Amino acid sequence: MKKKSNKTGYRKASRYELIRLLGAVSSLIWTVVLLVLLMISGLSNAMAQVSYRYSDFWWQAVVLYFVQFSIFFFILQEPLRWFLSYRIEKKYELSNLSLLGWIRDDLKKQGLTFCFALLLVVCLYGLIRVFDSNWWISAWVVWVIISIFMGKILPVFIVPLFYKYEKIQDQELRQRLRLLVEKFNLKLEDVYSLNLSKTTKKANAMFCGMGSTKRVVLTDNLLDQFDYEEIDSVVAHEVGHYVKKHLLKGLVLSGMESLIVFYSIFYLFDLLNTSLQIQTIAGVDSLPLICLIAMVAGFLISPLQKVMSRHMEREADAFSLSLIGKREAFIRAMQKLGEINLANPSPNPIVEFMFYSHPSISKRIRFAQRWST
Ligand SMILES: [Zn+2]
Repeated sequence: MKKKSNKTGYRKASRYELIRLLGAVSSLIWTVVLLVLLMISGLSNAMAQVSYRYSDFWWQAVVLYFVQFSIFFFILQEPLRWFLSYRIEKKYELSNLSLLGWIRDDLKKQGLTFCFALLLVVCLYGLIRVFDSNWWISAWVVWVIISIFMGKILPVFIVPLFYKYEKIQDQELRQRLRLLVEKFNLKLEDVYSLNLSKTTKKANAMFCGMGSTKRVVLTDNLLDQFDYEEIDSVVAHEVGHYVKKHLLKGLVLSGMESLIVFYSIFYLFDLLNTSLQIQTIAGVDSLPLICLIAMVAGFLISPLQKVMSRHMEREADAFSLSLIGKREAFIRAMQKLGEINLANPSPNPIVEFMFYSHPSISKRIRFAQRWST
């Protein structure tokens, strides 16, 4: 009986993965198609003319163009976004959101993304005007600073716009985790729960905070379904990321990637712009081509980022296993995480290589089984 239900679960998880994968690839292709369409149809050029006609300053033209650009993408991408982030999640019984709840959250997300992207785009055109052909170096420096800043403010200011943090009431668990974290000379501010169950059945944990004070954040789904030893393993994995300086290594790596992306834009723009009737990168109608090059370059180098990410995840798993010394609890935690998040336990190796930020659940379990303390 158990074997049959495992098999059904496996089929469900691999179907879910396949649909999400096809969804991600189609959404990428669809965005590329829309960007090309904008350029070759002359629509981008028309939008630029409207922007210049109603603007007295360069930045006003950038804002006006970006508003039109965003409306175009919002209308044409929203149905696919709804299908992937609402319909599929509902079909696989992973979402706890009503349609109205999803629309509210999605509008909030899109609104925030719009404001943030608008600031970035105005900043980018400003740098292009000031630094001329060296714009890509200055844009890269600004991008790195913004990424560091965003990493800091995301859990503190952005997450609370969607979810609520609450100090956990379980004093025993709190004390347990405090002891675990403070072994590494880290000050623990407190242990919080996050009401992720508002939107999804998925579970997760994170370790965040500014300076030397850290917060352990456990989602309510995880708190409900994991025992103390399993929670220890998950939190120890997060502490492992901190102790092994993965945040810093991740920043250096993404800094290198973004440097390649900015250089690609700088180099390829001049090769492609004339055939697409775009005069200069300083003109607002250069935005679709900038986005297109950035997307393709980002996609091509993403497997490298995934290799590094899986390596760091493995290091954090090893840290957790050596710190807690409870292999069975770690394995149980992995199995539960896999089941709750409907992770494919044994994905196709090419899919894993291209898209997985973590090693697959079966690899993580095998790693733990082989682990000797
Ligand atoms: Zn991790």
